[in-house]
Amino acid sequence: MSEVEITIDGKIVRTVEGASVLQAALAAGIDIPHLCWDPSLGLPPTGACRLCIVEVEGSNSPVTSCTQRVVAGMVVRTRSETLDQMRRTIIQLLLSDHPRPCPASENARVCALCAYADKLGVGEIPFGKHTDTAEPEQDSPALVYDRAQCVLCGRCVSVCHELQVTGAIDFIGRGYETRPGLPPGLPRTESACAECGNCIDACPTGALAFAGARGAGRAWELERTVTTCPYCGVGCTMVLHTRGNRIVQVTGEPGLGVNRGLLCVKGRFGFDFVHHPDRLREPLIRRDGELVPVGWEEALSLVAERLSTIKKTFGPDSIGALLSAKCTNEENYVMQKLFRAVIGTNNVDHCARLCHASTVAGLARAFGSGAMTNPIDDLQVAELIFVIGSNTTECHPVIGSVIKRAARRGTKLIVADPRAIELTEYADLWLRHKHGTDVALINAMAHVILRDGLEDREFIEQRTEGFDALRAAVEPYTPELAEKITGVPAADITRAAHAYAESGASSIVYSMGITQHTTGTDNVLALANLAMLTGNIGRPGTGVNPLRGQNNVQGACDVGALPDLLPGYQKVEDPEARATFEAAWGVTIPSRPGLTVVEMVNAADEGTLKALYVMGENPVLSDPDADHVEKALKKLEFLVVQDVFLNETARLADVVLPGAVWAEKDGTFTNTERRVQRVRKAVEPPGNARVDWEILSDVAARLGHPSLVPESGISGIQDEMSRLIPQYAGVFEAADAFSTGKQWPCPGKDHPGTPILHVERFTRGLGKFHAVEFIPPKELPDEEYPFVLSTGRILEHYHTGTMSRRSEVLDCLVSVGAIEINPEDAGRLGIRDGGVVKVSSRRGAIRIQARVTERVAPGTLFLAFHYWEAPANRLTIAALDPIAKIPEFKVCAAKIEPE
Ligand code: SF4
Repeated sequence: MSEVEITIDGKIVRTVEGASVLQAALAAGIDIPHLCWDPSLGLPPTGACRLCIVEVEGSNSPVTSCTQRVVAGMVVRTRSETLDQMRRTIIQLLLSDHPRPCPASENARVCALCAYADKLGVGEIPFGKHTDTAEPEQDSPALVYDRAQCVLCGRCVSVCHELQVTGAIDFIGRGYETRPGLPPGLPRTESACAECGNCIDACPTGALAFAGARGAGRAWELERTVTTCPYCGVGCTMVLHTRGNRIVQVTGEPGLGVNRGLLCVKGRFGFDFVHHPDRLREPLIRRDGELVPVGWEEALSLVAERLSTIKKTFGPDSIGALLSAKCTNEENYVMQKLFRAVIGTNNVDHCARLCHASTVAGLARAFGSGAMTNPIDDLQVAELIFVIGSNTTECHPVIGSVIKRAARRGTKLIVADPRAIELTEYADLWLRHKHGTDVALINAMAHVILRDGLEDREFIEQRTEGFDALRAAVEPYTPELAEKITGVPAADITRAAHAYAESGASSIVYSMGITQHTTGTDNVLALANLAMLTGNIGRPGTGVNPLRGQNNVQGACDVGALPDLLPGYQKVEDPEARATFEAAWGVTIPSRPGLTVVEMVNAADEGTLKALYVMGENPVLSDPDADHVEKALKKLEFLVVQDVFLNETARLADVVLPGAVWAEKDGTFTNTERRVQRVRKAVEPPGNARVDWEILSDVAARLGHPSLVPESGISGIQDEMSRLIPQYAGVFEAADAFSTGKQWPCPGKDHPGTPILHVERFTRGLGKFHAVEFIPPKELPDEEYPFVLSTGRILEHYHTGTMSRRSEVLDCLVSVGAIEINPEDAGRLGIRDGGVVKVSSRRGAIRIQARVTERVAPGTLFLAFHYWEAPANRLTIAALDPIAKIPEFKVCAAKIEPE
């Protein structure tokens, strides 16, 4: 884009061709009043409020600077007596039905209209004043709308349609009754509204506000802390607004972060669990069968003494630790160091085992690096996006909006999913394959690509190895054979293969629909094959992009919370890698990989694992075959749980240590695109709860290792991590600044980070094709259990619900779980929508409401796993992928009957 030079208020301003005068002025630090256009949203201007009028030399009358494009040599005046008078009149007209004093100031909001009125000295309103007597309306637990404050600028409507791509609200009514709202008569719960609240941030006058912040006081009386969302792996940048030690509201920061200021319902409204009365405030130890509060000294001494005794009696491998994708990189690094260096075991694992262990295993084998290859932003330059096994708009909502925006702009979208999800409505092609048939589907696409000569010969020859084995492996997977296995018409498979191979840049996006299978690693390898076959890797808009589930599951993997890998994915079996850590830590590290999550549970059941230390996980609800997990944990000689609530696992513990949530500590999270981002402390932990790394440091000291954590705390831990984790060598510099961090690998402080992996060479040198065969899921329906049960998440809740179900708004939006069943099956079995059903598998049974919906195909059921009162994992099977040891959460056989 070429540069254009214009003059604004006598100042020479350089800008780009196509920019508006308002954009050029704001970028040059010249403020022009404006209400209806928000520079951070990147939306087309409407010129509706007319406050941004300017004089352009040669023009007869003022023009709106938001709609006026710059022209080389243009001379613009933003202030003059005429312009100021016109603006005052516009403001007076707007104020004629706007309350003064403005309620926004009492509701932690700033009203831009009132601020402009004050700035331009607008006092009396010469026209009659219309006073809107309507009370603010609240039709959702989160959102309040005050028509009196609304200036009908339309920013909320634009955000909803253009950025969130929900299109839930529009202007309704006429005259004074005009307002943005849902279609008349449609309750919010039945509308398309995703309750993201992005309309609140877009509203310049505070007419739309968070209900919980009404009466919270003036915005400038609140502290603002920029931090990273604690829910999913998107890693949205957010601002915590606090008064005293309480978070009052959460907003996006316009234009900032991977989310560019947007948030989803969980990020924006799911923060109040921080102040929930259930928070653990004191350490607890079990006495006479009851958990009773004690001081830190007693609790920590007991932990150290019991771990020492068990280690002496049964050896270090009789102890295990579950680390946490909810905790910071620094805390996970310290905990794996505690167990490897002090206890002397590699029995460290975390919930990545349950979500993306197959990604780590598969992509490392194919490319040499088990992480998202391209940045989120790249989805905007892809020509085709192939989403497989990812309910993106519910599980990674902000990325879901990016994909919807791309599809609306004309990017081809192919969605492969057994269930009808929101993205299938935007897809050019929906491949509704049967659960667990991904390899057959992907292999058939590869077959078509080769059969029709669509492969990238040059890329295959120069950048890859193992092609002949792949060609032989996919040869039998004709679309016709795949149709029999997957249920997808052969013609659709052919169309998908052609579209993927023929686009200039195709990006694969996947998540747990791919990974949580006994063939999870094979699924990932098959996707990697597809990308290499067509040269769709190492370029903008391409790649294989696993969307990581938890906020810091990527980081926990990076820093060594895995039983076979030291920090930085260095193999524990590699003597050279071990030697580096042994020299740094002054200890000997065991060379044998430790136990995985499910293996630790099994070892507890068999009696070989005697003690388990769980930090920020809830295996009783999150692991497969929950009854077995509970039974196994009860057999342990010693169970320590470090958490923020007395969750289902903590209730079984011998010692419970109260930790801190993300808003109460400093550190970093690494998001799904490998970006290491700052987490900043905004409030103090409640009671005697403490920051997790400090607790771990005290445990180590009592085990005779007082210097596990450097004296300088977080900065010392980060220094140590940057020395020992090559990918993290330079990441913490940027993370300290008011920026949203760098993407690893970042080999030095001056390195900008690496948005795209495998650009000229794969991390492992050549990319490796793998021949993978279709293997059916471990447990398929039969006469006794005739349904396929699949599990997953919903938009409003998160994982085991520990946080989201203690958020007033989220719990109010969805307070009970439901199992989805197709109307055909429901009719046959006499199950009605909302009726209670019993669902059972070979492992257990639950009672839950039925939701009768076409979203699931006949013969299949879908159940979210957030509900302790109806735990999905009482039903799931603990069958494991043989390589990644990830359980098959996505398929098991079940039956359903009305109660
Ligand atoms: Fe938080 Fe994920 Fe929602 Fe962003 S998309 S606000 S990271 S839960």
